Amino acid sequence: MLATRNAHKAEELSRLLGGGAVVASLEAFPEFPETIEDRPTLEGNAEKKAVEAAIACGVWALADDTGLEVDALSGAPGVLSARWAGPGRTDADNCAKLERELSGVPVDRRQARFRTVMALSDPLGRVERVEGRLEGSIALRPRGLGGFGYDPLFVLPDGRTLAELTADEKNAVSHRGKAFRLILPRLKTVLQAAAPL
Ligand code: IMP
Repeated sequence: MLATRNAHKAEELSRLLGGGAVVASLEAFPEFPETIEDRPTLEGNAEKKAVEAAIACGVWALADDTGLEVDALSGAPGVLSARWAGPGRTDADNCAKLERELSGVPVDRRQARFRTVMALSDPLGRVERVEGRLEGSIALRPRGLGGFGYDPLFVLPDGRTLAELTADEKNAVSHRGKAFRLILPRLKTVLQAAAPL
């Protein structure tokens, strides 16, 4: 089970597992209350989401938490990435805030990275985790129409922004793709152990 209400993430995981596995999102458990993401780190929030879902539903649960860390902003927005511009604000609002906060910062001081932490909990709440990173920098102006979140402002070493990649290209290099591929062998072991003989 994947501790998310995002059906797209559940579909993506199901595809990465090569079919044959039932990957349910939290939509299948409407009675399960949303986890409050109140931990100060990505690690803390990912673990909290996985453990609460696993214990409440009595199944293995996978959860992830992602943040953008900008060196010139001492690691902000980090764990606050989703709601940096304020509650209910959009991706465009978050990007506009990032542009503002970095105005006047020269190109060689705009290093940043995305970090995804994935936590896998067994039904008793015993948790393990992996991390995927993508290093890059923040553009002076947004570019590209793909992706979501801060993608139009995140520049890869080859000069393209993440919003200029196809979905497959992004998945091959992204923080989330890397974290998925690290946890995948473990998920396959769990599935094999749970499979009926
Ligand atoms: P979440 O933990 O996956 O929900 O991500 C938290 C926030 O980080 C999102 O609301 C986005 O603002 C940002 N974010 C996460 N992943 C990406 C990405 O791949 N590209 C751009 N922004 C992202």
